[in-house]
Amino acid sequence: MCGMKTRVILVACLLALAARAEEPKEPVEVLRQRLAERLATPVEGVATARPAARAARSAKAAKAQPPKPVHWGYTGEAGPEHWAELAPENRLCAVGTRQSPIDIREGLAVDLERIAFDYHPGSFSVLDNGHTIQVNVAPGSGLSVMGRRYELQQFHFHRPSEERVNGKLFDMVAHLVHKDAQGRLAVVAVLLERGGDDMAHPVIQAVWGNLPLEKGEDLPAQGQIDPSQLLPEQRGYYTYMGSLTTPPCSEGVLWMVLRQPVALSGPQLDVFARLYPMNARPLQAGSGRLIKESQ
Ligand SMILES: [Zn+2]
Repeated sequence: MCGMKTRVILVACLLALAARAEEPKEPVEVLRQRLAERLATPVEGVATARPAARAARSAKAAKAQPPKPVHWGYTGEAGPEHWAELAPENRLCAVGTRQSPIDIREGLAVDLERIAFDYHPGSFSVLDNGHTIQVNVAPGSGLSVMGRRYELQQFHFHRPSEERVNGKLFDMVAHLVHKDAQGRLAVVAVLLERGGDDMAHPVIQAVWGNLPLEKGEDLPAQGQIDPSQLLPEQRGYYTYMGSLTTPPCSEGVLWMVLRQPVALSGPQLDVFARLYPMNARPLQAGSGRLIKESQ
């Protein structure tokens, strides 16, 4: 049985442990960087080289390298089910309960306020950011809803549509991302579906015609673009509170999904399919969220 001496040693150990726990912690940035280093998944297709890469990384870690950009994607080890592991700030991707996209069903049919679109033609630039084609628009376009004005920042595309409506998937979707003065986000989703080969959409045509040759290069485009041409004739919509559909999956995003799809031509669809055959996050749990829809 334990003698007195053992008990004294035990107490001493416990005290030492407690003292260590109270030592000043490493700066959060250092911890975050170390965690990101440890969790960073190499780009797709280099799984076999991982142990070597990991060894090289820990050797480098001693020299306090600047944090590397965290790669994420839509398949394999960098795919959506691993986003939260890639960086601490992506935590909500795994544990959030207000995530997007969702299957939009059983919405409450109510008198929804009209979205007051205030879009104007303007200059634009096109960016292939490695996850999608993004169109940055000139300031001045925006929308007002629920007493708030949101400025249009950019729009981009997913294939297939991330959101579903009563289980139905669409060929593509355009997400028009808006921000208000307090930094709150509102995204309008325009569902896109394949029309005839003669159904070329003028906005898509302008964007595809200005595709940059290199990724990560924001290419100022020729001419102007009118984002209002992307909107369907009827402006009825579904609305719910959700998140960004890409890391860090931040919540508090007001989603407005327009009910009427817009057509683009088969060849236009094929252009995007060659660049991004699949860049849609899987459906997320509704978690009892309220969905409203215009009647
Ligand atoms: Zn999007």
